[in-house]
Amino acid sequence: MRYPALIVNREKVLNNARTVVELCRSHGMDAWGVTKGLSGDIRLAGIFADAGFRGICDSRLRNLRKIKDAGSPLPRQLIRIAMISELRELAVMAEMSLQSDIGTIRELDRICASAGITHEILIMIDVGDLREGFWPTELPEAARELKDLEGGVKLGGVAANFACASGVLPGHDNMARLVEYRDVISGITGVEMPAVSVGGTCCLKVIEDGLVPEGVNVLRLSEGVILGVDTAFDRVIPHLARDALTVTAEIVECRQKPSVPVGDVGYQAFGEKPVFTDRGLRKRAILAIGRQDVSIDRITPLDGDVEIVTASSDHLIVDVTDARAMYKAGDLMSFRPLYPAMLACATSEYVEVIFE
Ligand SMILES: *Cc1c(COP(=O)(O)O)cnc(C)c1O
Repeated sequence: MRYPALIVNREKVLNNARTVVELCRSHGMDAWGVTKGLSGDIRLAGIFADAGFRGICDSRLRNLRKIKDAGSPLPRQLIRIAMISELRELAVMAEMSLQSDIGTIRELDRICASAGITHEILIMIDVGDLREGFWPTELPEAARELKDLEGGVKLGGVAANFACASGVLPGHDNMARLVEYRDVISGITGVEMPAVSVGGTCCLKVIEDGLVPEGVNVLRLSEGVILGVDTAFDRVIPHLARDALTVTAEIVECRQKPSVPVGDVGYQAFGEKPVFTDRGLRKRAILAIGRQDVSIDRITPLDGDVEIVTASSDHLIVDVTDARAMYKAGDLMSFRPLYPAMLACATSEYVEVIFE
């Protein structure tokens, strides 16, 4: 095996995915799997299909293209608001998308109509998190604009995000408003618009608590199903594995050094001015992985006696003084990643992503 590696335990992600699909189903909802956290990995899309997810979502067309080319049986949805410059590709790569700009929707409608394609859109509504979406007061006007489309675009429903930009948590009330907004648009356009789609992982809590209002019928998620945690509610998710992913790197040096540097201290490579506490001589290991590959404050060593000290682009330094293992060059050390670390690993071309 080559290192550094991001190792994905297929069975654990599959079990998590099945548990989430079952939970959603028991509350009358469909689950759609978001693959962006692992750069649209086709093996993850395969797990989602096996688990009973109803579709694949990704924020990037490049990822959706990979999944399409791999022959995934599930419909694909672009979940980042599309660039006008990518609409031609969108029409080919995905059956569905989230949309929040009338000009973009018109252009997509024109492109799809002339190509003889029907593309389904969900109208993105901002229920308070202040990322993308129509502001609720704009909806009647927007709905009137959507009445005269050429037939390339079909209104499939509405969608909203929670805890993406501002950390606004989902709950019964803001989800219920989303259903009302759908009814407003549907009333004006005369189109039924059955889908009311919410994301991401933080919505699981509302489902578990039985607080999802009537009408909300789709959940889009990634973090919870892969990592078993919910960052927004700062909780671990019951019944989901939290050890499906491991980051493993190789030690290239291990030796005793002082805990305080020698010389005048300025700013280090990443613009930070470190502060030091004198803890005497400490044994430090250097791993061949760095900030270019992983988010160092979002990984936890599996060896509980190891402490992360700092990192530069290509080196991660850990304190192994208190560890029972006698670490040396050539040994491997593993970490549990959280979402930003998983994302960085999946994006770094220097990290091997292995499904086992
Ligand atoms: C990333 C994303 C999700 C998934 O969120 P998680 O919290 O990772 O589950 C859902 N919807 C949209 C629009 C997203 O951008």
